Amino acid sequence: MQGCPVSINIPSFIKNIERGEFLNAARVLKSTSALPAVCGRVCPQEKQCESQCMHLKMGHQPVAIGYLERFSADFERESGHISLPEVAPSNGKKIAVIGSGPAGLSFAGDMAKYGYDVTVFEALHEIGGVLKYGIPEFRLPNKIVDVEIDNLHKIGVNFIKDCIVGKTISVKELEAEGFEGIFVGSGAGLPNFMNIPGENFINIMSSNEYLTRVNLMDASNPDTDTPINPAKSVMVVGGGNTAMDSCRTAKRLGAEKVYIVYRRSEAEMPARLEEVKHAKEEGIEFLTLHNPLEYLADESGAVRAVVLQKMELGEPDASGRRSPQPIPGATVTLDIDQAIVAVGVSPNPIVPTSIKGLELGRKNTIVVGENMQTNLPTIFAGGDIVRGGATVILAMGDGRRAAQSMHEYLSK
Ligand code: FAD
Ligand code: SF4
Repeated sequence: MQGCPVSINIPSFIKNIERGEFLNAARVLKSTSALPAVCGRVCPQEKQCESQCMHLKMGHQPVAIGYLERFSADFERESGHISLPEVAPSNGKKIAVIGSGPAGLSFAGDMAKYGYDVTVFEALHEIGGVLKYGIPEFRLPNKIVDVEIDNLHKIGVNFIKDCIVGKTISVKELEAEGFEGIFVGSGAGLPNFMNIPGENFINIMSSNEYLTRVNLMDASNPDTDTPINPAKSVMVVGGGNTAMDSCRTAKRLGAEKVYIVYRRSEAEMPARLEEVKHAKEEGIEFLTLHNPLEYLADESGAVRAVVLQKMELGEPDASGRRSPQPIPGATVTLDIDQAIVAVGVSPNPIVPTSIKGLELGRKNTIVVGENMQTNLPTIFAGGDIVRGGATVILAMGDGRRAAQSMHEYLSK
């Protein structure tokens, strides 16, 4: 339980599975987690709950807590016996949520339960944040996220899509419309680039663009308005979950060769172990200790190759990981016809910089206190906009904590 960021009662839910009482297992999970079917699939369990399992200390494999969680939540959904939470009578107070990722959804659910009139504003044409636009269908089926969204609808949460807060409507206007509390859960959807020569050539794009176009805009279909150009040899730069999702997507879109290029060694990769294992099983080639130096293009301006710098590991850096150092003169040229850049994300500045007087941290993250309240008392924030890129379970936990704190604040 100490390994789980939201302290799920792991012994209790597993005991219920052992007894064959699967719906009770799901109930235990839902008393702490808003999205167990999602977390059971995407949590980095090997670093969280499973890393604390006593079986590990005895030299065995840990109990597969994530898979058991996934099973219980799937069983409940497929049994048709989903229990909706009890909702307090309406208190007439309007609350706005900016962003519909796991932070915004869990916040919205809890505030609706407390009796608030909750409206979620989402910039995209789909609700779900990274759960929909980032993590691909083969890892997290959309229907699972849709059931959760549907449940929020059923308890009275309103959703407004295609609405960019800070552009379509301002926070000031929301306040003027009577929203007494605002939760910012706008995530970290601004992709980083490497700023190396040739990065603007045709068929080089961020993983955010690539995954969003494939997941939300049907870009693998050549008849859509914005299809992805078919590619034979794809390089994905990066070693995180986003890189793994991108390379496995490229393989499914028909690429013959897909390379992961990562400047450190496999031991330092931030991706979940399971994603690395699956990528390898699917034939992705790992070029660790390599780093792109520059891209080369054909006469039409489309990428045709990338020059890679070979690296070696030096002393540990500020992150505690051994820092990659270039090996002088050691380069290699790789023929590619598509490159996907997955080297991290930052918060999109639109919401944070549009709120006058809001205290911001590094790279436009929003600064909050223990209770997720910002320096402006009616504005709370959580998830990647505060943490600058973390995990689903942490975003969800933030949403729940913010709901509890905002409820206490507005009840005073
Ligand atoms: P998000 O999920 O980013 O949602 C923010 C929402 O706010 C978006 O829908 C966005 O469109 C909307 N928004 C932004 N600006 C505005 C605005 N101005 N007005 C209205 N709406 C706005 N984590 C894991 O735990 N396990 C994984 O396996 C994993 N894999 C990942 C794979 C990919 C490809 C990516 C990109 C991330 C992955 N993560 C994973 C990280 C995880 O998804 C995030 O930490 C989490 O989704 C953050 O939740 P959030 O609610 O803060 O933000
Ligand atoms: Fe483990 Fe994640 Fe479930 Fe917590 S929510 S018990 S960390 S799988």
